[in-house]
Amino acid sequence: MRNIVILGSTGSIGRQTLDVCRLHPDELNVVGLSCHSNVALMDEQADGFGVSKKAVGADEALALIDDDVDVVVNALVGAAGLRASLTALDAGKVLALANKESLVVGGDLIMPKATEPGRLMPIDSEHGAIYQCLVGEDAKEVKKLWVTASGGPFRGKTKEELANVKASDALAHPTWNMGRKITIDSSTLMNKGLEVIEAHHLFNMPYEDIEVLVQPQSAIHSMVEFVDGSVKAHLGATDMRIPIQYALSWPERWPSPAAEVDFRELGSLDLGSPDASTFRCLDLAYEAGRQGGTLPCAMNAANEVAVAAFLEDECGFLDIADCVEHVMDAHDVQPVESLEQLEEVDRRSREAAGRFLSSKR
Ligand code: MG
Repeated sequence: MRNIVILGSTGSIGRQTLDVCRLHPDELNVVGLSCHSNVALMDEQADGFGVSKKAVGADEALALIDDDVDVVVNALVGAAGLRASLTALDAGKVLALANKESLVVGGDLIMPKATEPGRLMPIDSEHGAIYQCLVGEDAKEVKKLWVTASGGPFRGKTKEELANVKASDALAHPTWNMGRKITIDSSTLMNKGLEVIEAHHLFNMPYEDIEVLVQPQSAIHSMVEFVDGSVKAHLGATDMRIPIQYALSWPERWPSPAAEVDFRELGSLDLGSPDASTFRCLDLAYEAGRQGGTLPCAMNAANEVAVAAFLEDECGFLDIADCVEHVMDAHDVQPVESLEQLEEVDRRSREAAGRFLSSKR
């Protein structure tokens, strides 16, 4: 039996994590829940699971990471999740990480604390897939990671067509059931850019050996290519509860939370390259990752501000990449030293992004 705390229990990942817990009551014992603002739903969840420890807000959630906790599921949104990730690892807990910004912003601080196998389990379909393809393999024999992308709801659109799209158009995402912020990130390909940086840290791969592959049906969840030319792919239902459950069951596998896929009915699989010239955030993220240091932190902060503005119809779709590029260009890159330094970079970059977006209105 593992005692787990879910930070961000009312969001998409949090709710699906509770689904997994409901299916495996002999394996998983929920002992704490936190939410951003939906207290009514968190209270309902707490009643259902008999949980007494609750918190509202990312800072208050840190108090839930106490002695009787084995696993911390970090499903907080944005860079605010980094402190919780570091706190969980410092306290010796298993970190089941859905907050990809923790690695994007603070991978240099996190990875040295997570060298032991199973300490850091990714809750992201792509990284869960790569993790599984690598089980039993020698890292020296890995040639390339293929991170798959659905291409997002605007795949195939031109820049002219994208100039006037609204957040509501993006929120009709074709495949995965996700929260609002990540759905917009998926539509700009920034989500894939964040995932490339995430993969770089998690699997210690150089950026030139991480490729993005568009696979609109999302049946292939990612692939690993080995030096002998063999390629392992992870396939399955497009159901986030599968990677969530694997992160919690490792090194075991438990009965599936998802409907079975009948591959005979899947028809064909389309594969292709991302349209990086239209969706510029992907290359901006690669550039931030390659330069490293504090640049991914600045990039991420600018993106969070621009996405929040886009969700409120306060900026255009193409302004998101322009804002990220502007903040990156102005940023003085330093090696990562501390959480406090990153929080300061995050704060300044948010201000710079806000000024940029105001100047466009
Ligand atoms: Mg993903």
